[in-house]
Amino acid sequence: MFLGFPDRFFTFQFKIDVMKPLLAVTLFVCLSTVGYSQTTDKDLIKGIFDAALKEGKSYQMLHSLCTKVGHRLSGSPGAAAAVEWGRHTMDDFGFDSVWLQPVMVPHWVRGQAEVGRVVNSKKIGSKDLTILALGGSIGTGPAGISAGIIEVKSFDELKQYGEKNVQGKIVFFNRPMDPTKINTFAAYGGAVEQRANGASEAAKLGAVAVMVRSMGWTNETYAHTGGVRYAPMVRQIPAVAISTQHADLLSKLLKDDRDIQFYLETHCEMLEDAPSFNVIGQIKGSEYKDEIIVIGGHLDSWDVGQGAHDDGAGCVQAIEVLRLFKMMGYKPKRTIRAVLYMNEENGLRGGQKYAEIAKAKRENHIAAIESDRGGFAPRGFTMSGSDAAKAKLKNWKALLEPYDLWDFSQEGGGADIGPLAPQGTMLIGYLPDSQRYFSYHHTQEDTFDKVDKRELELGSASMAALVFLLDRYGLK
Ligand SMILES: [Zn+2]
Repeated sequence: MFLGFPDRFFTFQFKIDVMKPLLAVTLFVCLSTVGYSQTTDKDLIKGIFDAALKEGKSYQMLHSLCTKVGHRLSGSPGAAAAVEWGRHTMDDFGFDSVWLQPVMVPHWVRGQAEVGRVVNSKKIGSKDLTILALGGSIGTGPAGISAGIIEVKSFDELKQYGEKNVQGKIVFFNRPMDPTKINTFAAYGGAVEQRANGASEAAKLGAVAVMVRSMGWTNETYAHTGGVRYAPMVRQIPAVAISTQHADLLSKLLKDDRDIQFYLETHCEMLEDAPSFNVIGQIKGSEYKDEIIVIGGHLDSWDVGQGAHDDGAGCVQAIEVLRLFKMMGYKPKRTIRAVLYMNEENGLRGGQKYAEIAKAKRENHIAAIESDRGGFAPRGFTMSGSDAAKAKLKNWKALLEPYDLWDFSQEGGGADIGPLAPQGTMLIGYLPDSQRYFSYHHTQEDTFDKVDKRELELGSASMAALVFLLDRYGLK
């Protein structure tokens, strides 16, 4: 049982037509006569991509997750429904085993809509601006906060203003993501400290709240939420994001009129930790069942939009890898596990719990792959692990390059799989084209219609191809 929907809801509406292998049979009839053990890597990888592009189910799965469940912040009824969605979806596909792994998660709620208002601008008088409370933030309470604004671009600039100028003010962090960076994650990384740590930096100097320019591109009309991190022993103050369009407007108004007063009202609060789950599906290995290859994405999302790219895409791709293998009749030598991690966005408890249990059970995870950069067209894989393991992976480049998987140069894995690193697990991140990712990331715009079927299915096939090579050859 789960909150919100009767059980038959899933049985009837989430029933995804799993084993319709007719086309697959024709595709692989030549393979089955000789058996997969004698099929060349090249042919098998082509088979995976053909199957995904002709009969992929990733898009269909993502549609049901986005439209039947919707957004699903940890601890919310949406997250509980998503857990049941994941379990039913994998059960219906007939994987060897499907189970839930309990984990306690932070439970933050937004409450009623935020108000952010310029009260007395000489130019425009009173005007509501588009803001969104940051995840984990405390609220202002119903009385709201009225204060002057001080705009800064960096923590250094904030410190130069000092306590006498910051005391009692709302600090407005307005450093944009650098639009000239081709690597959009680097642009994000160059600005996101304002969102993550700005509240505590401002509170140390006596600020009453912070407003952070959204982690997005210029002229967006909507705000991006995301986690705020309160430093221990520092007073907690409310934190909100403002749309980039309104950040630019506010900055312009402040240039002419430094005495603008701002009214801020948010109703968010942190509740007690709530019970939740990682959702796990598995196909048991035929030869080396104790060697585990885990693939995954995170099941939780922020409480706006539908969490389509972040990270519904990664979840359905992980499930699809197992489904493709099953549909093709490919029996892995090693154990292949799909994990839908809970709570990546505001706690990482799911990833930590998974690694903790893997360690306690002395499981041997040879590789962990995460897809959490959106459901976009393939570019390559990031990796972190031993030099020997990296070299082995890079050796497969020639097999993967025909499928637009050419970039194996970047270090990194994924947030949820990071906790497996101390166990010696090779970490791998699926690396798609990320030029559009930060237009949707953590916003109301991260919805199913922003995902392209072909690109999403190519991502699933990319992961399946790599899992196939890891399964066939291992990493030793
Ligand atoms: Zn994500």
